[in-house]
Amino acid sequence: MPLPPDYHMHTLLCRHATGEPAEYAARAMALGLTEIGFSDHSPMRRDDFDDWRMRFDQLDEYVENVRQAQRDFPQLVIRLALEVDYLPGQEEWIRELAGRHPWDYFIGSVHYCSGGWDIDNPKNLGRWREREAFDVWAEYFAWLTKAAESGLFQIIGHADLPKKFGFRPQRDCEPLYERFLSAAAQHRVAIELNTAGLRKDCREIYPSRPILEAAFAKGVPITFGSDAHAPEEVGMNFAEAMHLAHAVGYNEGCHFERLELQREKF
Ligand code: ZN
Ligand code: FE
Ligand code: FE
Ligand code: ZN
Repeated sequence: MPLPPDYHMHTLLCRHATGEPAEYAARAMALGLTEIGFSDHSPMRRDDFDDWRMRFDQLDEYVENVRQAQRDFPQLVIRLALEVDYLPGQEEWIRELAGRHPWDYFIGSVHYCSGGWDIDNPKNLGRWREREAFDVWAEYFAWLTKAAESGLFQIIGHADLPKKFGFRPQRDCEPLYERFLSAAAQHRVAIELNTAGLRKDCREIYPSRPILEAAFAKGVPITFGSDAHAPEEVGMNFAEAMHLAHAVGYNEGCHFERLELQREKF
């Protein structure tokens, strides 16, 4: 069975990953992948926004690094992408980024909630104890829904990221993700099966099986991503992700070329 593309990979430019694009590409080749995509953390309008992304003046260098990998690995399809932070109010900036290069896709990810809190940052773990878990999840999914409706993204990243450290609400979250998935289906936005969750405290692929089942029922397309922050993480646990996708009924994933979605069996 052919492996689906790994569409979520970082590079050393984001300051918390290691490895040049060529090293990720070499690893992908060794695993038998035929397609990958680089989706490093996008710059913000202001470089002092935080310290875990490339600076704006590194964007062209990032693109050139990916182009170099494309030249060095002609046997491998290598997509040019970004993982873009979605926060309400950032739409104009994201449109500006979109116009700068011929991107294949943008992964829209919510890492921040109100109060400037990056909910997946281990340095800010204590803040989870200051707020009701359900309130964080509710705000997260509300913002994720806006991201899906924005028309700015082809893929939504790690759709249930708030589970990362295991702070799960007692209350039922189904209405939260139902609304998000309806928006994704309506706007033809894909979600990713992100295997990085297996390497975190939650020990689970993002998103969880119930969310994926609801996504399948609504016809939301899927992609696969390791969220590799090191070359050895490329394609990690893809067999498990494919197994999960098959188990809920998916038999096709999708590709993106210059923002165009194409379905393909896996
Ligand atoms: Zn990262
Ligand atoms: Fe992310
Ligand atoms: Fe990522
Ligand atoms: Zn990520």
